[in-house]
This record gives sequence, C-alpha cells and structure tokens, in this order.
Amino acid sequence: SLPVVAIVGRPNVGKSTIFNRLAGERIAIVEDQPGITRDRIYSRSEWNGQEFHLIDTGGLEFGEKDEILQHIKNQVELAIEEADVILFVTNGRDGVTSADEEVAQMLHRTQKPVVVAVNKVDDRKYEDAMYDFYRLGFEHVIAISALHGTGTGDMLDCLVSYF
Ligand code: GDP
Ligand code: MG
Repeated sequence: SLPVVAIVGRPNVGKSTIFNRLAGERIAIVEDQPGITRDRIYSRSEWNGQEFHLIDTGGLEFGEKDEILQHIKNQVELAIEEADVILFVTNGRDGVTSADEEVAQMLHRTQKPVVVAVNKVDDRKYEDAMYDFYRLGFEHVIAISALHGTGTGDMLDCLVSYF
C-alpha cells in the first residue's frame, strides 16, 4: 500500500489549502452528519513519480477553546496511528502558539517522522518567522506559502525522503 502523509495542526493555519494544492484524485470524503464533525479527507497524490496518500484533518473550528483543543488532539492521535509521515502545519504570522506546543508534545511521543511547515510566509521578508518554530524541537522546519506555492517543493522533497 502507498505511504500515508497526514496533515495536522490547529484550525486556520492552512491545512486544507495545502491539501487542495497537493491533492490528486480524492479517494474518500467523510461528510458532515448532524452532530458529527467531518473528520478526514483522503487523496491520492504524487511527487516526483512517488505516489502517496494524503490525509487532511480538521473539521471543528468553532466552539469552546477546550473543545477545539481536544478535537485537535484526537486528530493528531489518528494521524499518528494512520500516517507514515506527519506534516505539522503552523502559521508563521502567528508565531508559536500554546496549541502548537501541545500538538508538538504529542508528536514527540511518536517515532514517526514529523515535518513542520510554517505556512503563510507569502513574502521572503517574512521568512525569519520560521526560526521561532525550531523550538518545537523538530529537525525539519520549512517556510511555505500554500497560497502562492512557494516552499512546497522543498516540503514535498522532505516528506517523500521518509517513504
Ligand atoms: P485549515 O483550517 O488549517 O484547514 O486552514 P485553511 O486551509 O482553511 O485556511 C485558512 C485560511 O488561511 C484561509 O482563508 C486560507 O485562504 C488562508 N491561507 C491558507 N494558506 C495561506 C497562505 O499561504 N498565505 C495566506 N496569506 N493565507 C493562507
Ligand atoms: Mg481545514
């Protein structure tokens, strides 16, 4: 079976924008149902001839802060179970947040490789924003703009190097 990359991170950092940019054929969509948050969207993607499955996580963006944090944690747990490589997305404009730190703590408990994407670095003059994210303790920190597509090639190179 194909390697699996799961995209995790708090709401609004750009996970779905990255997913949509990288997504090939959508292989499954778990629809919203009353009382059930849409959980994960799967796609079959490809980079440099290497195929893989991509999972977008997310869903709950509004509600009590505790509720959202618990939801993020559930998604991270699922990603740790299902993924071969984890793409941890953050927002370079916000800097490191406490929710980022909680996600990082969970991800450090797994042996699975983690690549940190510092998103929304739309202009090179914001590139320094990524250095703060090294304190989350991961080796790979890559500034990207999902909006413009900059940095996503380096990010993909890094992800597929773990397949
Ligand atoms: P998610 O909640 O993590 O899935 O985030 P979304 O992909 O839904 O994006 C949240 C918002 O951030 C949307 O308004 C996107 O258009 C915006 N966004 C995503 N990527 C970028 C980026 O690279 N630069 C900027 N400026 N905005 C972005
Ligand atoms: Mg989303």
